[in-house]
Amino acid sequence: MLKITTDLHTHTVASGHAYSTVDEMAKGAFVKGIKLIAITDHGPALPGGPHMYHFGNISILPERLYGVRLIKGIEANILDQGQLDLDNEYLSFLDFVAAGLHSLTGHNLKNKEDYTAAVIAAMKNPYLDMITHPVQREYPIDLEAVAKAAAKHNIILELNASSYSPKKSHYRGIKSESIKLLKLAIEYDVKIAVNSDAHFQADIGEYSSLNFVLDSQDFAEELIINRSETSVLNYLKKRNKKLAKLKKTV
Ligand SMILES: [Zn+2]
Ligand SMILES: [Zn+2]
Repeated sequence: MLKITTDLHTHTVASGHAYSTVDEMAKGAFVKGIKLIAITDHGPALPGGPHMYHFGNISILPERLYGVRLIKGIEANILDQGQLDLDNEYLSFLDFVAAGLHSLTGHNLKNKEDYTAAVIAAMKNPYLDMITHPVQREYPIDLEAVAKAAAKHNIILELNASSYSPKKSHYRGIKSESIKLLKLAIEYDVKIAVNSDAHFQADIGEYSSLNFVLDSQDFAEELIINRSETSVLNYLKKRNKKLAKLKKTV
């Protein structure tokens, strides 16, 4: 089985309902043999989420902690008309911009059509890199339309391990839909990221809950954008992120 050595979706105490600091997350990654993590705390619209200055100041964090490369990012909230809850000026400070649909963020999206349209509209934001948990019971979307748009705008779609974590009180995911998502990614050549969505250090790099989908199809390793530190850095370089330091070391 493919060994995935990075994690592009993790939360720290700054998210308000996660339980480890940046330092602890880096230690947790080191212990698991994970070489790179993206710190993607929730956007300001989520109750308990950080103020926009959190994202404006995040460049003070070191490039590496305990040998683990830190990618400074956000999991922004997709709002009405696909707007994100952080201005592009602030998004431009970040190495990696993920976004997803979440409750209690003030959006007025009501049905599958609305959710699909908002996700596709969000993909037009030039700073967006990845849609988080595109498969979730609460927000059903037209996966084929989203996969086509992801191919067009070069956006990563996520397989989210926490959606199937046995530790959670309820599954957010739908197994048949995650399998469909992987099939569509293969068909339309859309990049996939396999991420933990860890809200605690011990959950970083925990992907076993996704074996049902990863074992369901044959696909080239290259489909998984976060299979290695090098594949992530090459991706970011191609996206023309303002990563002068990264560029030197790719
Ligand atoms: Zn999320
Ligand atoms: Zn998350």
